[in-house]
Amino acid sequence: MSTDKHIVLDVGHANGTGACGHGLEEHEVCAELAVLLKRLLVLRGFTVSVIDYPEQSNAMDLNRTVAACNALQPDFIVSLHCDCSANEAAQGAHVCYLSRKGLTMARCIAGRLCELLPGRAESVVPRANLAILRRTHAPAVLVECGFLSNAADAAMLRDNLPGVAAAISQGITDYFEN
Ligand SMILES: [Zn+2]
Repeated sequence: MSTDKHIVLDVGHANGTGACGHGLEEHEVCAELAVLLKRLLVLRGFTVSVIDYPEQSNAMDLNRTVAACNALQPDFIVSLHCDCSANEAAQGAHVCYLSRKGLTMARCIAGRLCELLPGRAESVVPRANLAILRRTHAPAVLVECGFLSNAADAAMLRDNLPGVAAAISQGITDYFEN
């Protein structure tokens, strides 16, 4: 498949400021996931930009991320995150969206990702208050790749991050092929 599509991968949060659990840390997991995902998407013909400001505060990271996304004008923004909950039984991936294109992409990614990280009643969730969805001009989704606080999700992220990257890559490809 060849494509002229440009994808921005946003590594959620700055270093050490996100979710933690089972020896994993959100920024670290998402940074590694972005590297794997970029490799897969480039093989499929996408142009990929990874945005990451690990040394900023969370607020600075978000402001710079939004500005970078709006300067790059990609075809889609995919922001990578992990969840955390005081309820250790909470598990599963879900994808947040705001726009109509976002909903379609959220369904494409969740359809693949939730096979590996099941458990959420709602695999796609509308969110009006997320800056990465609300303040960016390009269509965007925010992917929550399971709960670091849940043993099964953490094991999947630790032991099969390439599989998680492949699922998201396939979902993005599904969106542009249909
Ligand atoms: Zn997050």
